[in-house]
Amino acid sequence: MAAVVAPADSVELRRAMIAVCRRMNDLGINQGTSGNLSVRVDGGFLVTPSGMAYGDLAPDDIVHVGPDTGFTGHRRPSSEWRFHLDILAARPDAGAVLHTHSAHATALSCLRRGIPAFHYMVAAAGGRDIRCGGYATFGTQALSDRAVAALHGRRACLLANHGLIALGATAEKALDLAVEVETLAQQYLLALGAGEPVLLDDAEMDRVLELFKTYGSQDPAAGRRWLKRPRQPQVSLPAAKKIKT
Ligand code: 13P
Ligand code: ZN
Repeated sequence: MAAVVAPADSVELRRAMIAVCRRMNDLGINQGTSGNLSVRVDGGFLVTPSGMAYGDLAPDDIVHVGPDTGFTGHRRPSSEWRFHLDILAARPDAGAVLHTHSAHATALSCLRRGIPAFHYMVAAAGGRDIRCGGYATFGTQALSDRAVAALHGRRACLLANHGLIALGATAEKALDLAVEVETLAQQYLLALGAGEPVLLDDAEMDRVLELFKTYGSQDPAAGRRWLKRPRQPQVSLPAAKKIKT
């Protein structure tokens, strides 16, 4: 996850941020003015304004937060600017932080349950599980502290009785991960509703995490690893039978 840093006044980046927020709602993983998005820029970060409908946003509604936490812009920053600030400071590997109230992740967070290794795709968030951070009132420093702790060694977490946070090199990558986490939360809830899901053990999740280092890479060196296969035993197929007509 390499961070991409653009200038704070980039209209292109601000438009891209608004597009990601609208897409988050269009995909059904967020609703109304819930959720927020930040992107690291030269000298701080850009963040969505508080309580504004994404459909109405224009590039200059996006707020710039400087290194001294001075706000620049004519809107108030997201009420969650503290966790955006603290996560971007704690995680130099992240270029963007996306927060949503997606239905299934939020339902799980209300049970105060994270997502264990019930499916190998849990590794998409960077570890053997996806934690659920402790509860604190929205917009508080306490919530920020809990979010940073839950994200330790991970690219996503749930927030108790609230929603989820996903990190990415870009806003688009963070959105992709949020969709993945919401899908996993839905699958996990479905499995829980039908019985007791069987969890993958640590050794298996470590194997998957190792494979994910090169999964999707079109680099020929990475490809060789995927294409390598054990010598196949020689299998002789039975001769085809003649079909009587
Ligand atoms: P903002 O509109 O202030 O970003 O708040 C939305 C939210 O999800 C708070 O947790
Ligand atoms: Zn929220």
